[in-house]
Amino acid sequence: MSNGDRSDFIAITIVPWRPEGAGRLHETQFGQLLDSIPEGIVALDRTGRIQAFSKPAERIFGCEARDVLGRTLATILPEFEFADAVSSLSKDTVGRRHDGSTVAVNVLMDVSEAGGEKVCSAIITDITERQAVSRALAESDTRYALAASGANDGLWDWNLEDGTVHFSARWRTLLGLEEENIKYSPEEWLSRIHPEDVDSFCNRFDAHLEGKTSQFEHEYRMRHADGQFRWVLARGVAARRENGEPYLLAGSQADISDRKRAEENLTHGALHDALTGLPNRGLLLDRVGQALARLVRNAGYKFALAVLDLDRFMIVNESLGHAAGDELLVSLAQRLELKMTPGNTLARLGGDEFAILIEEFESLDGVRGTIEDLQKTISQPFDINGEEIFVSASFGVAIGAPGYKRAEEVLRDADLAMYRAKKEGSSGFETFDENRHRRAVNQLQVESWLRRALDNGDIILHYQPIIDLNTGVISGFEALARIAHPTRGIVPPGEFIGIAEETGLIIPLGEQVLARACATVSEWQQRFDLQNKLSMSVNLSARHISEENIVTLLDEILTQSGLAPKDLKIEITESLIMTNPELAAQTLSQIKELGVTLSLDDFGTGYSSLSYLRRFPIDTLKMDRSFVGRMDSDERDMELVRMIILLAHTLGMEVIGEGIESESQLGLLRELNCEQGQGFFFAKPLPEDEAAGLLAAPPKWR
Ligand code: C2E
Ligand code: MG
Ligand code: MG
Repeated sequence: MSNGDRSDFIAITIVPWRPEGAGRLHETQFGQLLDSIPEGIVALDRTGRIQAFSKPAERIFGCEARDVLGRTLATILPEFEFADAVSSLSKDTVGRRHDGSTVAVNVLMDVSEAGGEKVCSAIITDITERQAVSRALAESDTRYALAASGANDGLWDWNLEDGTVHFSARWRTLLGLEEENIKYSPEEWLSRIHPEDVDSFCNRFDAHLEGKTSQFEHEYRMRHADGQFRWVLARGVAARRENGEPYLLAGSQADISDRKRAEENLTHGALHDALTGLPNRGLLLDRVGQALARLVRNAGYKFALAVLDLDRFMIVNESLGHAAGDELLVSLAQRLELKMTPGNTLARLGGDEFAILIEEFESLDGVRGTIEDLQKTISQPFDINGEEIFVSASFGVAIGAPGYKRAEEVLRDADLAMYRAKKEGSSGFETFDENRHRRAVNQLQVESWLRRALDNGDIILHYQPIIDLNTGVISGFEALARIAHPTRGIVPPGEFIGIAEETGLIIPLGEQVLARACATVSEWQQRFDLQNKLSMSVNLSARHISEENIVTLLDEILTQSGLAPKDLKIEITESLIMTNPELAAQTLSQIKELGVTLSLDDFGTGYSSLSYLRRFPIDTLKMDRSFVGRMDSDERDMELVRMIILLAHTLGMEVIGEGIESESQLGLLRELNCEQGQGFFFAKPLPEDEAAGLLAAPPKWR
């Protein structure tokens, strides 16, 4: 409403003062007329006391006329100086409502003479809304003045009451629109928003109208008159009524396509490989991470990560130059990309290493098929500077499994599989998970076999004779454990000793072996009259040495079997001693005190020196079969064997040569004064009855 309108009211309010009828104006006909005017009319006497009060005034001040009649104007307008009142004075001030709250008002004074009397009227307008609007506009002004000053931003205001939207000339030109072709309606705006952005735009818009955000701000795409989409940034603030109801939204809109493009280039650059344009390691790991998350949520989901590395790429690089190498990598990337199905992501990890995240496959065979297909593609010749180049690649694959915590672990396993493939010959294909899975399954299986065998007495012993090389007579046997499996047959110790050690089952296993071996040799001694002439060697693991009761156990078993302690030979390995030398020294001397003989097994496979081993009470050295096996073909091994035997003798130890397979080995060991020997040349480890057979009819190995 303009001031011009208001002057009409002033004309009306210039009314004769009716001293006789102070009261509500609306009680008179004239009063009714005043009540129809939306502004509040307050008539005052010379001193400023309220003489009349219109109905709209009652509404503005929240009171009835009788509450204020006869009181000063200050009752309702505490900050207004009546003394200053002159005609046409217009002032925004604070009104005090009956309940003590305040209301923003405009006061327009009219002072005139009527019938020699000074007549004063105040026309009061509630300006709460107008103030809110101007505040909103001021806010948006300051907020957007800067942007608009560059004359880059279009401006708009959206009248929510009549549904019209005004667009500034700049707003239109940003979108290439002519004034005559544009309707000032929300549809004009909304219909140009990119279909994918409409929902988010409306959500933001509504959120602000509902008062959930302090301003409306949104980046989205709009269709330019040329048909292309441009990125724009719209901002706005709502003007609200007293009750919070918005009735106007005004703001700006700017073209941010350049900035968006720059941003996209930046993010693309951070996530893509510059040479091939493929996703880089970072982006790949991100995708693998997402795949892992999906795997946890969705049990039916599968993924595999394949890593491929070109074979002999260095040669290409070095013979043809780096530019040619780069060209090859780009061509390779293009070829591989053509093979990608929508579910797969091809990435370059660096150098000549690429990775493929395979997300849609039925079975491992499907993955294998994909990789074979890729290998075929790679094997086609490349034309680099007119030269035909043939390359091949090694692949490693890791299958996604819930056990993986981080994407890096999947990549590491795929990498390991790839290196293994490379080692086993070019163009190989290795699955990490497959092997690991097989190993894990195998381990569980062996563990359960072992437990069952321990319970059912299916641990059996084979006995391999040890020969006195001077006489050619059997001086003892080594007891070697096996599992007699009901369907698998005899399972050798190489398959279960490691697992027995890991699971602790080596303890009950060792007890069974010791008891059985001692009982057996004791029985043989009696049966074949070999008391003091036949020993039994039993292998003990590191676990036993750290068992507190091993000495007690040995003592018990010796008593039970009636075997002379010196006829029991405990075989331990170097590594056992080296892991905990203090404990080993202590336990070994306790065992020694029982009178038991100690042998050091597999000597030469570890790294300890003989002089170091002097600290331990060892009687016999078992020289590893790797030396014996090479001594007749390799001069240096022959020298080594000579040295070992010499040193052992100086330290007061006897030597047993392990793994004698030939007569020449036997002959050489005899020459070197090796006391005893063991090996397939004499006999393989034999079942109990066959071993006993050897004692019944002793062969002469001379
Ligand atoms: P070891 O104690 O060094 O036993 C000798 C191994 O060498 C035996 O393998 C034997 O069959 C093999 N061998 C003997 N002569 C020859 C030969 O001329 N040529 C070749 N190529 N091999 C020969 P086996 O029975 O498979 O045992 C393997 C290992 O398992 C043993 O090595 C020992 O370390 C361990 N083991 C066996 N039984 C037990 C047991 O009851 N307790 C513990 N803790 N370990 C055991
Ligand atoms: Mg042994
Ligand atoms: Mg050995």
